[in-house]
Amino acid sequence: MAPLNPTKIICVGKNYAKHAAEMGGEVPAEPLIFMKPPSALLDSGASIVMPSQSERVDYEGEIGIIIGRRATKVSQADAWSYVESILPLNDVTARDLQAKDNQWTRAKGFDSFCPVGTPVPVADVDLDALGVTTRVNGEVRQEGDASDMVFDIPTIIEYISNVMTLEPGDLIATGTPEGIGPLQAGDVVEVEVRGVGKVSNPVVSGTA
Ligand code: MG
Repeated sequence: MAPLNPTKIICVGKNYAKHAAEMGGEVPAEPLIFMKPPSALLDSGASIVMPSQSERVDYEGEIGIIIGRRATKVSQADAWSYVESILPLNDVTARDLQAKDNQWTRAKGFDSFCPVGTPVPVADVDLDALGVTTRVNGEVRQEGDASDMVFDIPTIIEYISNVMTLEPGDLIATGTPEGIGPLQAGDVVEVEVRGVGKVSNPVVSGTA
């Protein structure tokens, strides 16, 4: 696939009510955003490396979107016209470090912590059927529908673009549904976005 080259990767936290509940919290009153560095990007088939600093590395299957043109202070009504493509994304998270640090840069930012699949042009995607499924070693662990998002994709784009300008190629991870859990070395984790495709990655230990 053509390599992605985002200037930034913006992620939305706690964007499904049942996931917010399993994390022991309420859904936020407005979108909760954080960033992953582009250096975390990983192609399908390449290995997720569990860092030596963490005892618990989790998958988070998500619907990813790629911005197609510069977006500053975009309205919800116009938001879809700024989206170029949709792709499966795994917001891999060092869960123990997320709890330990006051912010999430380290927990979300390790190399290999942002596997992405091949983008599909938004015009070719049935947006009404959009949803995400995560499997570990072939077993379903997460099932979510975009219609269950607390803040839908146009709301997310309006919110983020009123904070920072989104450049062509920038990536947004729209949040994970319930069912998060840990990965072990030797696992294969797969995130599928319905009607879009899959990203599948083996997991290896960084200490081996
Ligand atoms: Mg996430």
